Amino acid sequence: MHSERYSRQIRFKGIGPTGQRNILAARVVVIGSGALGTCSAEMLVRAGIGGLVLVDRDFVELSNLHRQSLFTEEDAREGLPKAVAAERSLSRINSEVTIRSLVKDVTSETITDICSGCSVIVDGTDNFETRYLINDFSVANGIPWVYGACLGSFGTGCAFVPGTTACFRCFCEDPPVGGAVETCETAGVIAPIVHVVAAFQVAQVLKLLAAVPPTEFRLLQVDAWDDSWRTLSLKGMKNPDCECCVKKNLPFLEGSQESRLTRLCGRNAVQVSPGTPIHIDFEQLSTRLSRAGQVDFNDYMMRIRVPDFEIALFPDGRSIIRGTEDFTVARAIYSRYIGM
Ligand SMILES: [Zn+2]
Repeated sequence: MHSERYSRQIRFKGIGPTGQRNILAARVVVIGSGALGTCSAEMLVRAGIGGLVLVDRDFVELSNLHRQSLFTEEDAREGLPKAVAAERSLSRINSEVTIRSLVKDVTSETITDICSGCSVIVDGTDNFETRYLINDFSVANGIPWVYGACLGSFGTGCAFVPGTTACFRCFCEDPPVGGAVETCETAGVIAPIVHVVAAFQVAQVLKLLAAVPPTEFRLLQVDAWDDSWRTLSLKGMKNPDCECCVKKNLPFLEGSQESRLTRLCGRNAVQVSPGTPIHIDFEQLSTRLSRAGQVDFNDYMMRIRVPDFEIALFPDGRSIIRGTEDFTVARAIYSRYIGM
């Protein structure tokens, strides 16, 4: 059955029967099930990846549909978690792939559980903190990862392979300060650039898993609006003083540089995560909150509408507060309605 299903891929000389066997045996973790994450997950599942782990902390909204493959209007109406909606859609594309969806945040505490033993990590995130965390994990565990990012019509991507290439911190020593960079909210984003970058990322994954993986990888920079494309060699880009891949200082993996509040790209929203694990009883809380605002919930999420803000609350106490990008305001709202 495999030889028929993947025949055109096997016939491609870069993959061949051995490459296809490697693909079938591989387990790939896609962090983020937004635009890049859903596009790359679809290609990986069609390619016959053995196991796929989808991790996302967010839920489907109508404003996602123009660029995020796999999701439907029904998913948005139901307020389904993106990872769950993506798994549902992907399992219809290729039932032979073992797919696991995780509705959670990737943090220094969870990344080891999620990514240990995987073949490759694909970056479908929308924030720098998680990318620095993935890079630390990658260097600590010798697992390659494929970076990808899009904004407006511009996109970039690169495979970082420990022991072979430079790492992400060789290029960008420290994360940009929050609010200092444009986001999808200020600059918008169009679907074509998402598909270009996701396609590039999946090509890197297939190359890494192929019978003879390449020793050189290149950084892609594309603008889908002015049609400019270029790739840069990573050769000679390794920073001999890199804190991460040379000195093995891994503050993001150790959690010492981890914040509990995150601005969400394109959402005018802040995510607040409690410092210690908690479990929210939605039944109980909804009774209390129904006096303060409009409340509804399903097994995965509670939505609370209060004047000027909307709060999406998850069972582990994590919350997305829409209506502000200000951490202080977000903390206050969380504290007022949920308690911290
Ligand atoms: Zn480095």
